[in-house]
Amino acid sequence: MSSNCLFCKIAAGEIPASICYQDDLLIVFEDINPQAPVHLLLVPRKHISTTLDLTPEDNILVGHVFQIAAKIATDLGFADDGFRVVNNCNQAGGQTVWHLHFHLLGQRQLSWPPG
Ligand code: 5GP
Ligand code: ZN
Repeated sequence: MSSNCLFCKIAAGEIPASICYQDDLLIVFEDINPQAPVHLLLVPRKHISTTLDLTPEDNILVGHVFQIAAKIATDLGFADDGFRVVNNCNQAGGQTVWHLHFHLLGQRQLSWPPG
């Protein structure tokens, strides 16, 4: 846990969130400012600041994130329609919370390219 990290505090239960899934590796909760009918954040329990800080020992973790994103999309019934898993890295990438996370967006038609 990193002190003064919002997502570490949510993972530790110190700040409330609408949690919909959790396991040993990650926690999944609703984004406070949803950009789609389903907008969830998949957040590793381990504090990793950005995509640039991943190491080979995190490969299982990142694979697990995508497995769980696919399971949630399937369970919520929009997997076949389609969905998006997004990671924003650093300022120009749109990152605003410096604890690695993946957005799961679903249940609407998503445009491309993103803004
Ligand atoms: P980023 O911009 O870093 O890719 O994504 C950060 C996300 O965290 C944003 O979509 C933002 O709405 C969400 N967020 C920021 N603060 C909070 C919070 O306190 N609780 C929850 N549930 N989401 C938050
Ligand atoms: Zn953190």
